[in-house]
Amino acid sequence: MHSSRRGSPKGSDVLVIGGGIIGLVSAWRAARRGLRTVLADPAPGGGAAQVAAGMLAAVTELHYGEETLLGLNVASAARYPEFAAELAEASGGMDIGYRACGTLAVALDADDRLHLRELHALQRRCGLESQWLTGRECRRLEPMLAPGVRGGLRVDGDHQVDPRRLAAALLAACERAGVSVHRASAARLLVAGDRATGALLDDGTELGAGQTVLAAGSFSGQLPGVPPEVDIPVRPVKGQVLRLTVPAPYAPFLSRTVRAVVRGSHVYLVPRENGELVIGATSEELGWDTTVTAGGVYELLRDAHELVPGITELPLTETRAGLRPGSPDNAPLLGPTALPGLHLATGHYRNGVLLTPLTGDVMAELLATGTVPELARPFTPGRFTEARQESYA
Ligand SMILES: Cc1cc2nc3c(=O)[nH]c(=O)nc-3n(C[C@H](O)[C@H](O)[C@H](O)COP(=O)(O)OP(=O)(O)OC[C@H]3O[C@@H](n4cnc5c(N)ncnc54)[C@H](O)[C@@H]3O)c2cc1C
Repeated sequence: MHSSRRGSPKGSDVLVIGGGIIGLVSAWRAARRGLRTVLADPAPGGGAAQVAAGMLAAVTELHYGEETLLGLNVASAARYPEFAAELAEASGGMDIGYRACGTLAVALDADDRLHLRELHALQRRCGLESQWLTGRECRRLEPMLAPGVRGGLRVDGDHQVDPRRLAAALLAACERAGVSVHRASAARLLVAGDRATGALLDDGTELGAGQTVLAAGSFSGQLPGVPPEVDIPVRPVKGQVLRLTVPAPYAPFLSRTVRAVVRGSHVYLVPRENGELVIGATSEELGWDTTVTAGGVYELLRDAHELVPGITELPLTETRAGLRPGSPDNAPLLGPTALPGLHLATGHYRNGVLLTPLTGDVMAELLATGTVPELARPFTPGRFTEARQESYA
């Protein structure tokens, strides 16, 4: 048998540390491949998904220098309809709110318009579908938009899901697939000889496993017992988000996701079918702080109001902050580490919801066969160590 598949005589085949959407999807897909799987998290189904907007924005989130990541994002977006159906079945009928509503990215002034034109050109060079619209055409599509909108990009392929429902469905699917869920934190990685052998939990339980997946989101670099040669360059990037509610007579307020860059900050409005309108998000490098601040709420409301003035009439029903697991190149870390038996599934930054289906496929394939699928090879954790070694050479 391949060494990375070696099971522990006393324990499971696979231990997943962290039950956010990434740990849950890894555990669910591993269990479906017939691996005996356990998962540890004090609050499974929580994490950043409780805050995230749930945009599946492979095209509108394209940034210069992230063309390799684009391939992964586009593949995961394409996988979503089938994934949503599989998950509905596996969770006993839970709906994750997958909505093929499309996205409109608009410009409010000449500088924004220039920026959007450049993004449009980049999208076309990458073979992506998007259509340039005049301000008037944008308002015809979304009548609640401000009269000052100067133009926009219509991207029908960027959809959405409800990340809270996604997390709940994944937890149910894990339990139904036989994943044993321990509601406790991993206090230390266990290592014997040159291998990871599981984890000690903070309630004193020892979970032995042939393979361990570290999927603790922005906390992934903090686990005691991980040897120094395992480099986990993940950091928290705070995002504040607001939830407004569109009362039934006003519906539909917006028919698709609307986004813009206002004074250099990204703002988006994501309308759900149940009337929830999610407005996000700030991007702040403040460690693990998750305080909702007056300044954050003010900036989001100010920018969203410039885009869609009518939002001031809506009830503000929730304010919340969460932590994106950021990595040095904004792409996830998927695959084996320098320590045999320890894998990473983390660093998904602003695309974790989008990348959930593909992450599940990649991690299950790795755990079952010892091989990282071709598409995910540029994202193995070794890329940072290798880059550093090259720069010293
Ligand atoms: C404001 C905001 C908006 C976003 N919008 C979008 C969007 O529109 N589209 C999109 O694709 N993505 C979006 N994201 C990103 C997405 O939410 C994240 O990339 C994704 O949720 C990360 O999931 P995760 O499971 O890796 O980490 P997390 O959600 O952070 O989960 C980690 C889990 O690990 C657990 N844990 C931590 N330490 C331990 C330990 N020692 N032992 C056991 N368990 C532990 C925690 O309890 C937690 O449940 C957004 C994020 C934020 C914050």
